[in-house]
Amino acid sequence: MSWRSRSFRSGLSDRGRLESDRARRRDQGVVIRLGRGFNEIAFDGERVTAGAAALDAHVARKAADQGLDLTFLRTIPGAIGGAVRMNAGCYGSYVADHLLEVHAVTRDGREVVLSCEDMGFGYRHSNLPEGWVLTRAVFRAEKGDPAALHAKMEDQLARRDASQPTKDRTAGSTFRNPAGFSSTGRADDTHELKAWSLIDAAGLRGYRLGGAMMSEKHPNFLINAENATAADLESLGELVRERVRASAGLELQWEVIRIGEPSPAG
Ligand SMILES: Cc1cc2nc3c(=O)[nH]c(=O)nc-3n(C[C@H](O)[C@H](O)[C@H](O)COP(=O)(O)OP(=O)(O)OC[C@H]3O[C@@H](n4cnc5c(N)ncnc54)[C@H](O)[C@@H]3O)c2cc1C
Repeated sequence: MSWRSRSFRSGLSDRGRLESDRARRRDQGVVIRLGRGFNEIAFDGERVTAGAAALDAHVARKAADQGLDLTFLRTIPGAIGGAVRMNAGCYGSYVADHLLEVHAVTRDGREVVLSCEDMGFGYRHSNLPEGWVLTRAVFRAEKGDPAALHAKMEDQLARRDASQPTKDRTAGSTFRNPAGFSSTGRADDTHELKAWSLIDAAGLRGYRLGGAMMSEKHPNFLINAENATAADLESLGELVRERVRASAGLELQWEVIRIGEPSPAG
């Protein structure tokens, strides 16, 4: 297999993505899994260094133990590499607000250090070149009282459980909010343009197609209700886009990363 001619992806988990039923064909790339050597978490004053394979929740908890506030990472599933690549965030904080630098390996094997500015962060976006692998990230965290930070994280977990289908199999928010903001808690977070409310208004809360379903609890979560194939999930997503286009005149954009050949229309 010619390495350079293939796309490759790095990551630890499979959250936030939908792999096509045929995605694992060898000619569609390889997946790099970062193992134990990449999950260190170290502290130096207000600097927190975390390996790319360290789980977001673990980093948040360990930082809180040290009296450092990276609580926004607590409820985000996945690991630091994916969080940095996607500029993950919630409850008003994003990776971009805390990142000092990242260490990466380029496709031709060079080790590089990139600043927060180099990463060109946007909404669920960074400019990390295709094929570069993040190995660790350095964050700056505000100081806080450990007990208060742990209480804040408990509160965030409770808020998630109350509003999202955290026990179901999902890839997270399925579509971007049309205004481009999601769970930021900021003033520009316009509620009338939330993807979930458009899907709800189109009558698709709890709508089912094959094994796929739009969650009853939060209609912007596409869930695998019962042995859903990728084709079920993608077809339901496309149906939702079509119905929202018809009912609201707005074009929903997928937030979930879809990998592999598009599923045949189902
Ligand atoms: C239930 C649920 C709730 C969610 N809630 C939120 C939320 O509130 N806020 C939010 O921002 N996101 C949320 N997400 C999506 C979340 O951003 C991603 O799931 C997570 O941050 C990505 O991390 P991961 O380890 O799963 O990355 P993956 O899904 O494995 O990868 C994501 C991308 O990053 C790349 N990548 C991963 N690791 C590396 C690396 N080491 N080097 C280079 N590239 C890499 C992958 O190739 C891929 O392009 C949610 C997802 C789910 C399932």
